[in-house]
Amino acid sequence: MRFTTEKIKLIIQVLEQAVSEHRGWLNDWHRSLIFGQPLASTCFLKDSYRKCGFGQWYYSQSSPILSDHSVFILIGQIHRDLHNKAFVLADKIKHYGTISIKDYDFFIAKEQDFSKKIFDLRDELREVLFEIDPLTDIFNRQAFFRILSYEYERASRTGQPCCICMVDLDHFKAINDTYGHLVGDRVLRAVAHYLTGKLRPYDSMCRYGGEEFLICLPNTKLDKAKKIVNRLRIGLLSLPIDLDNDKQVKITASFGIAKMAINITINDNIIRADEALYAAKYGGRNQAIAYEEIRPALKNARRNVK
Ligand code: GH3
Ligand code: MG
Ligand code: MG
Repeated sequence: MRFTTEKIKLIIQVLEQAVSEHRGWLNDWHRSLIFGQPLASTCFLKDSYRKCGFGQWYYSQSSPILSDHSVFILIGQIHRDLHNKAFVLADKIKHYGTISIKDYDFFIAKEQDFSKKIFDLRDELREVLFEIDPLTDIFNRQAFFRILSYEYERASRTGQPCCICMVDLDHFKAINDTYGHLVGDRVLRAVAHYLTGKLRPYDSMCRYGGEEFLICLPNTKLDKAKKIVNRLRIGLLSLPIDLDNDKQVKITASFGIAKMAINITINDNIIRADEALYAAKYGGRNQAIAYEEIRPALKNARRNVK
């Protein structure tokens, strides 16, 4: 399971707010220490770490993606320590009017640690965001090259078979022209969601271009890959994509499969899958063809079939 780009953006926003919220809080502390202004009553609450804006958000997160994340856990610990220290110091100020330099330094260091860890997590999330296609919420092409490089290296090292598959929706332009781009976008999201949902946990997929997807099937021989891909193709035929008028759009897709060859580059492997896809289009669309089974005349052919 992964977060959507919307969810990641929201988390980044909350994290940045948490830093400004706590820096504002620190300013209040400085006003109190320098000018003797009274501290906010929340400083005297024992569980203020659960009550501040960030604390309320933090303790309401139930997704294991966050709650099992080591930096997220660490942020929670530092945040609690920060508030607990503030609680002890507030009590000292109440009784003695000031605090020691040691206490002050500890408090400031905790706040800096908190901000740093928050920014670490934010930067990590930004990197994730950088790898996700915002329309479909699946990997983009850039992320996929990283995954493919890993699978390519693994296939070379272990000798295990691996297949890739280029998917292209048939006559997608006509869907846009008939129903509009928003429906086209809905189709792309539905297809991405359907295909990723049907793949095995160790398979991966990206949006390669406009209405093209690239799938990697590790540890899979060509005949098995063909079976998997044909199941996906047939599944797409009955994928429900609702229009606003109670009707549904029907779609088909063409698939070009290639065995990952380790004596050629990753890019050349993708070109093979693309050539197989071209053959599937040429052969009438709504079919899956492997590079290994296409006629030589179709190899290296330009993809301009209409
Ligand atoms: P073929 O069966 O040969 O693949 O025909 P096609 O119409 O699917 O292929 P073509 O390349 O002519 O059209 C692809 C269309 O995909 C054109 C472009 O406007 C559309 N497209 C690309 N990206 C997006 C997108 O993000 N949203 C929508 N709605 N359409 C997109
Ligand atoms: Mg296309
Ligand atoms: Mg197309």
